Amino acid sequence: MRISSDEYTGIEEWHASSGHDVQFYESDDFLADRVSAFIQAGLEAGDGCIVIATPAHREQIERRLKAKGTHLAAARLRGTYIAQDAAETLATFMRERSPDPRRFAEVIGGMIQRVAQGYPARSVRAYGEMVSLLWQEGNRAAAITLEELWNDLHDSIHPFSLCCAYPMAGFAGEEEQQAFLAICESHEHVMPAESYAALATATERTRAITLLQQRASSLQAEIAERKKVEERLRQLEARKDAFIVMASHELKTPVTSLKAFTQILKRRMAQQTDHQSDLKTLLMLDRMEAQLERLIGLVGELLDVSKMESHILTYRDSIFDFDTMVRETMADMQALSTRHTICLEGETGAQVYGDHDRLAQVLTSLLDNAIKYSPEGQSILVRLSTHPEPDSSLVEVAVQDHGMGISEQHQAYIFERFYQVGDGQGGTYAGLGIGLYIARQLVERHNGRLWVESQPGEGSTFHVILPCVRQDVADPFGGSQYEED
Ligand code: ADP
Repeated sequence: MRISSDEYTGIEEWHASSGHDVQFYESDDFLADRVSAFIQAGLEAGDGCIVIATPAHREQIERRLKAKGTHLAAARLRGTYIAQDAAETLATFMRERSPDPRRFAEVIGGMIQRVAQGYPARSVRAYGEMVSLLWQEGNRAAAITLEELWNDLHDSIHPFSLCCAYPMAGFAGEEEQQAFLAICESHEHVMPAESYAALATATERTRAITLLQQRASSLQAEIAERKKVEERLRQLEARKDAFIVMASHELKTPVTSLKAFTQILKRRMAQQTDHQSDLKTLLMLDRMEAQLERLIGLVGELLDVSKMESHILTYRDSIFDFDTMVRETMADMQALSTRHTICLEGETGAQVYGDHDRLAQVLTSLLDNAIKYSPEGQSILVRLSTHPEPDSSLVEVAVQDHGMGISEQHQAYIFERFYQVGDGQGGTYAGLGIGLYIARQLVERHNGRLWVESQPGEGSTFHVILPCVRQDVADPFGGSQYEED
């Protein structure tokens, strides 16, 4: 069709004789106007009319029909108007996540025959929102199948004209392009949303099309540019990961041997010490050893992350006493801080199957953070408890501090790699921002959960839940859940 003048008459009507139209829309009001006009014209012409819509849309459509003087009750009585709930109708022919063709033909075909009332010449109009519901649920495949079933029905029973409608907002995003094309292709007539359709003159429309073409071409250019940047980022990320693997490996050997030499030196000095100056040297060696210990910890964290990323972290699984592991880890951490008191509450009496040292590492990380992020000292509470479940038993260890806490905005991110919350002055606390990432990966590898509850200024509680060995089950893990290294 050529539009060469300003003679355009306004919004294109839905095709009333037969056919399958799709209307895109931006506002519910526009949609209700369109559907009510379609149905009203049908009822006035003596057609059979079907509306399958959400309760809200049905209400809006029927309100408009009544306002225009349509006697809906009478049409219902005559059997020329049928209104159905879209979700309920959909449920009658969905099997699993797909429409069942036979049931669809029975339900919808039956409805069309009913409204045609046995008159082969009677026109039937239908408006349906079931496809749109499926689309909004994210079940794209089912929506497209349902469109095809409507088309099949067209060819096999009483002729009818059908219109579907989709909110334009449901197609935002580059990845929607293919699906959008598939929807358009399954319809004979495609009608644009109101911001375009409401333009009254041909001049306005050609202007709008030109603008849209310009926008489309600049968006395409932007997408191409974004893809290039994403590819570059991927390459940089891969290089950064490779660097971390290499650096942590390279650092590990010299740092470990430095520690060994420091210990030998300390032992030798201790045997020979009789002067004040030697005592000072011993003290310095102690400090050196403590710093080396920290360095080994940091290098170990980096190594763990790189092994986790390449899925080569190894585990040594066994059954161990959970409370003893918690008590021993607490004692080790208490020895490192004189300003904090670490208290224990409760017990589980449970055995856990997993890597003892890796789970102790999780608790060490949580206690280390509890100490680090409550600089005023104060007590740290470790709470042990059990959660009997119908099919399994769980143990929980919670670590509560009364330190600075974490705002909600940061809570979602602290378990990501290299994420650190600043100190409010543009700096961060000592650390690499990977302790919690490693801890969560380790807990999840043991089929557990790790999460935080926190209030800024009041402190944080980190919870770890793990499955434990049930006393009443001979082989609690079925012999296959864990791989021993
Ligand atoms: P880091 O090495 O920085 O401590 P983590 O992965 O262990 O790395 O923690 C990530 C971030 O979560 C920390 O930088 C800190 O801001 C916050 N955080 C962790 N534990 C606590 C806690 N107990 N109290 C307050 N903030 C915490």
